[in-house]
Amino acid sequence: MKELPKEVLEGFVSWYCDYPLSNKEDCYKDKINKEYLSSIGKEKFIEFFYEFVSVGGEIQSGGHRLKNGFRETVKNNFASFRTYILKTFDDNFNIEDWIVNLKNYHRFGIGAATIFLNRVDKNKYAILNKKTRDGLRIVGCKISSSDEKAYLKVLEIQYWYIQRYPEIFKNYYQIDAFMHYLVGVEEGKRLAIRFLGAHFQSNKLLPEEISNPDDYLEGAKKTITVNAYERDPKARKKCIDHYGNKYECQVCGDSLTKKYGKLAKGFIHVHHIIPISERGQEYKIDPLNDLIPVCPNCHAMLHRMTPCLSIEKLREIIKKQKLVVYIIFIRSLTAFSKRLSPSSSNFLGHPKLRRIKPSLPKIRPSLNPTPYCSKY
Ligand SMILES: [Zn+2]
Ligand SMILES: [Zn+2]
Repeated sequence: MKELPKEVLEGFVSWYCDYPLSNKEDCYKDKINKEYLSSIGKEKFIEFFYEFVSVGGEIQSGGHRLKNGFRETVKNNFASFRTYILKTFDDNFNIEDWIVNLKNYHRFGIGAATIFLNRVDKNKYAILNKKTRDGLRIVGCKISSSDEKAYLKVLEIQYWYIQRYPEIFKNYYQIDAFMHYLVGVEEGKRLAIRFLGAHFQSNKLLPEEISNPDDYLEGAKKTITVNAYERDPKARKKCIDHYGNKYECQVCGDSLTKKYGKLAKGFIHVHHIIPISERGQEYKIDPLNDLIPVCPNCHAMLHRMTPCLSIEKLREIIKKQKLVVYIIFIRSLTAFSKRLSPSSSNFLGHPKLRRIKPSLPKIRPSLNPTPYCSKY
């Protein structure tokens, strides 16, 4: 769990003051309580939950797609769903079992269900949805994919933050708003990138993916990752010369001419590395240190995230992936050999294969980084 820098906390507080949903912390107080929900009849009960899911408990807007299916679920399982809902007010309420049993109520997903819990008691129950997972990842916490395990973890982590910053987060509703701030609000995302090292998946186009930007409509143009330096011929030349004029990718080591021959001669992308310390500020470009030749595939992968991945990070990903492919290969080879000879666990022991010299060391991926300029 990361400590939260003062810039991020201050940013959140000033945003939350104007956040339209900040005055909705208690907006279901009159209805989400044991007295009300156990007193209303079937029709009213169904309508209440239909409404609750349609408006996403006033927190999220995603319920419209699900609302009709969900109403059917409640209609067809009314008695059981009512008992299930009223359990949340019991003294011996078991949260883990409750989450496991969610699967019995089609279209009442973990998001809506935990918003409901948060409305039951905002001091006791957190909200778990995609935004929570993404937000927690930014503060350095990865949570389980199974909902019940993930939920206990969310409670634990968010409780820690509430204890740690009691002046900022008074309950689980507010820390949920903070998760939204980190992943869904431009200002919050910017601070998360700058102070928490966050990355966001990017759908932006690379400058190279557009041959003539003038042909594009104004709206589309805005989605281009505008980076004038990557297209500036003088800066490009300086950078390519600096790397020995070899047109080799400095991430994966590939040379396009090896694959495409003459056709690729003199072709390479140039990527603009923006030093972390300079992000968000004006700075002067240094074509030797800030630009680097990369192949189009690696270039696209660098730009998959906002801000761009670092060269080192992408090299690391490629190295890890090679290892994964290698392990899968070895496993399938072992499984294959077992099928040939169920009694022998070692494929090399099989008489049919004994004569074949294993050539595994040849395909072992290089664990050393691909050669690259010592500057990087
Ligand atoms: Zn490459
Ligand atoms: Zn780039």
